[in-house]
Amino acid sequence: MKQWERNIRKVVPYVPGEQPNKKDMVKLNTNENPYPPAPGVEQVLRGFDADMLRLYPDPTVKLLVEELAGFYSLSKDQVFVGVGSDDVLAIAFLTFFNSERPILFPDITYSFYPVWSDLYRIPYETQPLDQNFRIIKEDYYKENGGIVIANPNAPTSIYEELSVLEDIIQHNQDSIVIIDEAYVDFAGASATQLIGKYENLLVVQTFSKSRSMAGMRIGYAMGNPVLIKAMNDVKYSFNSYTMNQTSILAGVEAVKDVAYFERCRNNIIKTREKAVSTLRELGFTFPQSGANFIFATHMLIPAKEIFEELRNNNIYVRYFNLPRINNYLRITIGTDEEMERLFVFLHQFIRNYSK
Ligand SMILES: *Cc1c(COP(=O)(O)O)cnc(C)c1O
Repeated sequence: MKQWERNIRKVVPYVPGEQPNKKDMVKLNTNENPYPPAPGVEQVLRGFDADMLRLYPDPTVKLLVEELAGFYSLSKDQVFVGVGSDDVLAIAFLTFFNSERPILFPDITYSFYPVWSDLYRIPYETQPLDQNFRIIKEDYYKENGGIVIANPNAPTSIYEELSVLEDIIQHNQDSIVIIDEAYVDFAGASATQLIGKYENLLVVQTFSKSRSMAGMRIGYAMGNPVLIKAMNDVKYSFNSYTMNQTSILAGVEAVKDVAYFERCRNNIIKTREKAVSTLRELGFTFPQSGANFIFATHMLIPAKEIFEELRNNNIYVRYFNLPRINNYLRITIGTDEEMERLFVFLHQFIRNYSK
């Protein structure tokens, strides 16, 4: 190894799901929303005055921060906006996890958590989920340098009741607890309602799933003003202008259209509940989903085989070749038509398989 090579930071990067772009494909592999963003988003983009790009965008992201604060009944100093929740979570790790003690998160969860930990040299210790992929809350009653929990969890889809999270937050008032709520709009109550009660709680959400804007890259964190200010201080020590002008304006329109948001969300939940019964009939089992995907295993056929056969037929789902979950498929909920194509294919494949 050359001397200069020794000084390169070595990291094993996060691997995002593949983004094929084929005619006629059914793409159910990265938990994107099958419906377009709110109509106001398209209007803003069509009417966008390119001359505005001469100027730097507002570093405080005031318009979007205010819109989100209004939506969640918070004050402006309780909201931080970033370039997708991946950016927001990375800044939160950098800002809050500076202890010698390890941070804690489940062994099966969003696979970016260990990657940021390594990147920022944050010690961590994973806590095994139980056999049914549920969080054992007592595992988090030990000394730590911080906690991060996805709820609903990825890729299991399981939503833990707020009482479980509150118990963990309550037992850890000397640490910062981050709840990653990328999928909470498809589940139940959000931990945002605990923000007034616990100053050590940070809730992170995204426009990528329930708001159909994965391509725009908008995420946000909510918590007490001391936490939000600390995140902004780190952001301004890094890059003041993370949010571009178009994202800010488009994001505002998405939040404003509450009726459209509710309609898309309800459609996905309806399609998910239909998928639950069809997948059961096809011989799959899975935990109850609180997300826009189902984490399913088949009673006869190995997940890897199903994954590959689907892929050969232009139907993309996600498969993780990882301990404990290598016999599961993560299937994003698409439109009714997309799900129908998946079911027709699975029906045939499974019937021929047993022959
Ligand atoms: C999708 C996802 C994110 C990241 O979403 P962004 O597109 O970066 O906003 C964060 N956490 C979990 C658990 C996710 O599934």
